[in-house]
Amino acid sequence: MLNFTVAEVNLSNLENNMKNIRTLLNGVKLLNIVKADAYGHGIVAISNASERFGADALGVATVEEAIKIRENGVSIPIIVLFQHYKKDSDLVCRYNLTPIISNDECLPYYNDYLNKYGGKLGLYIKVDTGLNRMGAKPEDVLDLAKKVLSYNNLSIEGINTHYAGADMTEDHAKEFTRNQINIFNEVLSNLKANNININNAHTANSAALISYKDTYFDMIRAGIILYGYPYSDVSSIEVKPILNLKSRVILVRNIKKGESISYGMTWTANKDTKVAVVPVGYADGISRKLSNNWEVKINGKYYPLRGKICMDSIIIDVGNDNIKSEDEVLIFGDDERLNAKTMADKVGTISHEVLVNIGYRVKRLYI
Ligand SMILES: *Cc1c(COP(=O)(O)O)cnc(C)c1O
Repeated sequence: MLNFTVAEVNLSNLENNMKNIRTLLNGVKLLNIVKADAYGHGIVAISNASERFGADALGVATVEEAIKIRENGVSIPIIVLFQHYKKDSDLVCRYNLTPIISNDECLPYYNDYLNKYGGKLGLYIKVDTGLNRMGAKPEDVLDLAKKVLSYNNLSIEGINTHYAGADMTEDHAKEFTRNQINIFNEVLSNLKANNININNAHTANSAALISYKDTYFDMIRAGIILYGYPYSDVSSIEVKPILNLKSRVILVRNIKKGESISYGMTWTANKDTKVAVVPVGYADGISRKLSNNWEVKINGKYYPLRGKICMDSIIIDVGNDNIKSEDEVLIFGDDERLNAKTMADKVGTISHEVLVNIGYRVKRLYI
């Protein structure tokens, strides 16, 4: 049985995006963010492809995500970006993951495991420079570093922070980011003054990569830009969306002037027309907020979506055109008008959310 709605993921676009990102880096390392099922693109395929295309490390949110890709052949460092629970400390050691800590809570747990089974663990310290989500306060970092180094089986592999508004262009946001950069630099100097030299410092997400050259340090963390969305209209590099959400027309029907379409009768035909029903709906990640407010592309032409978006279908006005069942439909993807960014703008969110919302029912196909 064939599911007609697919997310076609173009891995050579991924490779090109990585190449173009590298042109900014001058030897700085590249960490590919693959959390949340690689922003909906499929975590295993994107992780393996990232490694093949030369990523220096991968970033995930959870220990579970990390184990999944480790078990599927990833051998480069896997950095667990978010705090993990104490009970997962064993798994972090066993799967050779790189955790990021905000405090000392997990240290004795790592130590217990490593004493029992041998080995060493390199971890990251996270510095909270203003996002106020995770991380040690700047003034607590030195003590935390010393505590880590007091265990002979633990080392500090890296240090990082995350920006709260690197994508924003308002003056107050730029000032906020500048301040975060300064705080991070001060933390590094303070560690250095105490003879603690840390190799892998990183701070830049996609937005900082484009807008703040002095955020690169030793490595950058590429998320949304990797998937083809630069996050800013004034990007200095070219990237292309790597995912096309496609389906096929399942029914073509005649509608008479005066008839309404879909739940809530929110759209009424002002002349006789034809509609195409396409089997993709809000269960597949097409926000209901796009009801009467999106287009799709069929045979190279754009057609408006009519009525409410249903759980499993959308209804497209194809006028008098010769559209047949099983014709291919682009919902969004590598298209100027129909992409995750234009869709996000319409529903008041960011392209990250549009991509991660692509449902489990949509098969990911790699080309
Ligand atoms: C998700 C995430 C990123 C990537 O953010 P983008 O905006 O997608 O580039 C970078 N760093 C951390 C800590 C993250 O959680």
